[in-house]
Parts: sequence; C-alpha cells; structure tokens
Amino acid sequence: MSEISSYAFSTRTVNTTPDEQYGAITAPIYLSTSYRLPADGSAAPYSYQRSNNPTREAAEKAIANLEGAAYAIGTATGMGAISTIFSHLKPGDHVVLSSSVYGGTFLYVGEFFAERGITAEFAPDINHLEEVPGNTAMVYIETPTNPTFRVTDIAHAAHLAHGVGAKLVVDNTFSTSYLQRPLEHGADAVVYSATKFIGGHSDVLAGFLVLDDAEAYDRYKTAAKALGNQLSPFDSYSILRGLKTLTVRMDKQQENAAKIRAMLAQHPAVARVLAPGWYSAEEAEIHARQSRGDGAVFGFELADGVRHEDFAAGLRLIPYAVSLGSVETLIAHPATQIHESLTPQERAAAGISDQLIRVSIGIEDSADLIADLTRALDGALAAH
Ligand SMILES: *Cc1c(COP(=O)(O)O)cnc(C)c1O
Repeated sequence: MSEISSYAFSTRTVNTTPDEQYGAITAPIYLSTSYRLPADGSAAPYSYQRSNNPTREAAEKAIANLEGAAYAIGTATGMGAISTIFSHLKPGDHVVLSSSVYGGTFLYVGEFFAERGITAEFAPDINHLEEVPGNTAMVYIETPTNPTFRVTDIAHAAHLAHGVGAKLVVDNTFSTSYLQRPLEHGADAVVYSATKFIGGHSDVLAGFLVLDDAEAYDRYKTAAKALGNQLSPFDSYSILRGLKTLTVRMDKQQENAAKIRAMLAQHPAVARVLAPGWYSAEEAEIHARQSRGDGAVFGFELADGVRHEDFAAGLRLIPYAVSLGSVETLIAHPATQIHESLTPQERAAAGISDQLIRVSIGIEDSADLIADLTRALDGALAAH
C-alpha cells in the first residue's frame, strides 16, 4: 500500500495518482493495448491491456486505498464485478441473498444459477437468521437494499457465512467507502457499481471488486481476465476524476436528501418515506452502528389512489430516469422501470409496491427540487 494511505478519507480521494515518471498531477491515460516485451523472455509489468493497464491500476489502487483493502479489481460495469464474484460458484453451492437486490443481480441469479447447479434463497430477514444451510458458499447482501432501504447487520451476516465456511459479499454501491466499509465489519469482499456515486456524473459505466485475501484476489483477477470485462483506460480515468469530488458531492447530496425527505413526510400525497432505518428501531440502530450516513437515495410510497403516472407527468426539473448517485436528481418507478423483470409476486415478496418511487438526490439547490416535487405531488393529488 502506498504511503498516502494514512491521510484522511477526503485527502485520499484527491491524491490518488502519484506519477513517478513525469510528476503529472492527474493520471495519464494509457490507451496502448500492447507493450514492448524484453528480448530475453523475462516478465514485464505490462504486456496486454486485458491483463494489466497503468491507468486501470491507478484507479484500482485508489479504490482499494479508500476501502482500507489490499486489492481492487476494476471491471467494465458493476455487473462485471458481480458476475466475476459469482464466476467461481460450483454445482451444489447455495447462495443466500438479501430479499431485494439490484435488478441486474436478480436477473443474473435467475438466468444462470439453476443451469449452473447453484441454488439461491432470497432471505427476507437476514438479521434474525440463526444459521444458513451447510452448503452455503456465499452470503450476498446489499445494505441498505435497493429499492426498499432495509438494513442488514454486516457483522451478523459475516458470522452466519463464516459459521459454514462461506464468504460474505456486500454490494456497497449506495454508500461507497465514504459512508460504510463492510470489510471492517467482517465482509470478505465488496462489490461496487462505480457508475453511480463514485463516477458521479452519469457518464461512465464501471465496477470494482474489493478484497483483502491474496489467494481470492488472484482467482478473481484471472476470472476477470478470462471473462474479458475489464475497466477501460478512459473509464479508469473518469473514475479517478469522479473520485476527487466524491466527499463534497455526497455531503451536499445527503444534506439535500434530508431536507427533501422532511418535505415528503409532510405531504398528503405521500404514504411513507423509505430511508435506512425506516423499517424498525433495530434496523436504525444497526445502520447507525455500521454506516456514517443515510446516503442520497431513498424511496417513498404514494398514498392510495395517487397515480405514479400523474406524479411523473408533473415533474418539470427532475428527469424521470433510472440510475442513481449522480450530481443531478433522478426519479424512477421501480415496478415498471427497474424491477420489471420480476413477476408481480416476486415484487410483492421483495416489498416493491406499484406506489413506490425511488429518488436519487443530486447537488442542485434544494429549494428548486422541493418546488418541483411539491408541484408534481400537488398535481397528482388533485387528479385522483
Ligand atoms: C447500478 C447497480 C449495479 C450494477 O451496476 P452497472 O454499473 O450498471 O453494471 C449493481 N448494484 C447496485 C446496487 C446498483 O445500483
């Protein structure tokens, strides 16, 4: 690990790429796919871009450093990191997952687990499980969950996994290592969609797999090489650029989000607001123990009879769009736009009602956001 690791988090987000060759302040983008190799056949640090690339390595080092981890593997997308971590599951393995996970993760489990002989179980309340089946190879959680904002005790999930020799993997996309560092609570690996808060500008797809174990790192690095889902040099650069403002963006986004949740909680068109800890005092306590903030993504349910179509039609400033974590506020309707691949029964089991709206708050002036949401909610209420 480099010597800058002892600095505070925000300092480390900025000072990511000491360039020993020319002293460049920002990371150079090495586009070359191939590198000159020594005539004597000895090993060289770089040979082919799918194996190694200096810009990707700079991004990987920065991400690992922020997580306090030994290793990070940069992938082309968040799903690239997730499919890489699933790549070593074997026939007969069992996986216990949070009951509502990212739509793409749900899709992967549905498309590939059964045909690979892997069984999966979506556990509604991992906090109160006392054990997991003996053939469990992986416990895979999101906390808070997408899009229901339920909280899972990472230390308890690690205890469950380790009790049967399984690994705990945490998708930490919503929190980033700024707010929550699962490895400190016993997780074995962390996956990210860096497309979201880490990139932060709705202009780059990227993922990371972060871990401490050297043997597992070698295995997943080989898997990523074989699967061919590497983070590109230009996207690595975009991630390094996004990282530099991660803490200021998240501070402002969280501040805006808190104001907007307070407004929504008072509005008659809103039945309830779903943010980390909403479900129970116990989940609130767990979240406060393992996380430094509520993030900037949350949900709310429209009151009975208020139509989500009327609400969406009333928005002028905020786009109705999927994705999250960027500088602009985005609003989505999970049942039709994100979790549409689930059956209505699966959605009900995951707690995703047709009245649920997901909000990702950006860095705009909060008064403008509140005015837009208030107008859309007032209009939807009048129409019903
Ligand atoms: C977006 C997202 C992913 C997938 O990331 P991509 O970069 O779109 O592949 C995974 N997990 C969560 C929680 C996400 O929000």
